[in-house]
Amino acid sequence: MSGPYDWFLMPHVLDVRCPSCRGCARFEHVEVVRIARKIDLDWFRESAWFEVRFFRRRHVGESHWGALYFAGLSGPPTTTIRDLPVGYTPDQWAHRRTWERSHDLDLGSLTCACGVRSKHTLDWPSDAYFQLEHRLEVLWAFHREHAAMLREHIAGTDRRPRRSRYGALMRRIPSTFLEAKARTTVVRKLDRLLRA
Ligand SMILES: [Zn+2]
Repeated sequence: MSGPYDWFLMPHVLDVRCPSCRGCARFEHVEVVRIARKIDLDWFRESAWFEVRFFRRRHVGESHWGALYFAGLSGPPTTTIRDLPVGYTPDQWAHRRTWERSHDLDLGSLTCACGVRSKHTLDWPSDAYFQLEHRLEVLWAFHREHAAMLREHIAGTDRRPRRSRYGALMRRIPSTFLEAKARTTVVRKLDRLLRA
């Protein structure tokens, strides 16, 4: 499935459909820090908090080992990670304030109230929990807050131009969803998702 509107960056945490109970689950992106010295590899391999991977890039000099941290499974890095080898600090695995990620991986964790806790490869926007179809077009939202913004925008109660990161996405909502005759149906579908 392809999205109705393009996106370039996404938040670190998303609402996704749980593969087990079909309810609303939480996806959180992984963060990766380059392991500069081979001598440190064993520490990361033996640590319960990290997964170690080799990243092969196009040029030999760009290939490197990386330590993957899944905050969704282990908790915030700054309160969880202890006793790192010299040269590393826990905040290196913290999400950036912007939506940029340390590595362009579609990998993260999936946790759900039903008990699911696993690593998960994101398939976006197929995985989106907040998504609805209208006249063969799909509208999706990153998470509940974004879905609520879409709802207000489409219902016409708040069409102020937004200066937030969501502003660009709001301006690109396909016209199918904004037409007067579609409004009632689309808002009702969004309300049903938001109530769940
Ligand atoms: Zn679930």
